Amino acid sequence: MTVFEIPTESDMTKLGEAWAHAINPGSLLFLCGELGAGKTTLVRGVLAGMGYKAPVTSPTFTLVEHYDLGQGPIYHLDLYRLRDQEELESVGIRDMLSPDAICFIEWPDRAAGLLPAPHYRVDIRYQGNGRRVELTHDDHIKPLT
Ligand code: ADP
Ligand code: MG
Repeated sequence: MTVFEIPTESDMTKLGEAWAHAINPGSLLFLCGELGAGKTTLVRGVLAGMGYKAPVTSPTFTLVEHYDLGQGPIYHLDLYRLRDQEELESVGIRDMLSPDAICFIEWPDRAAGLLPAPHYRVDIRYQGNGRRVELTHDDHIKPLT
């Protein structure tokens, strides 16, 4: 586990940018933390680091946003409002968990038991005015095949 102390929103974006190159296709990433912790901000930084220039909106109401930067699809899910397993199936979760895709999931606990173990797990906590970010990388889990 690696811990980062992130004082500001722009530092969170920079953390995502720095992390971007390490995320390979076939990666499933869980982002955990309260509302406003900075999960979407971190994904925004990762996408910027991968060369995405347009605005990144939160998939709070759509459940999923999709990006294609030329190296396979990137999915960004927010399951905060997920109702049930059928809804998860209907957004196409099976196709998202593909060896070609990168899949970020906010609020993965809303789909507990319905998702495989992630390759990375990020826990973000409030720490004063900033945030404490814990990044756990499971080397023992093989990329999705
Ligand atoms: P989440 O997706 O976890 O609900 P967001 O990334 O959408 O959270 O929002 C995080 C909010 O917290 C933003 O309004 C941002 O400006 C603010 N913020 C303040 N400090 C930080 C920080 N250190 N890192 C990330 N966001 C921060
Ligand atoms: Mg969010």
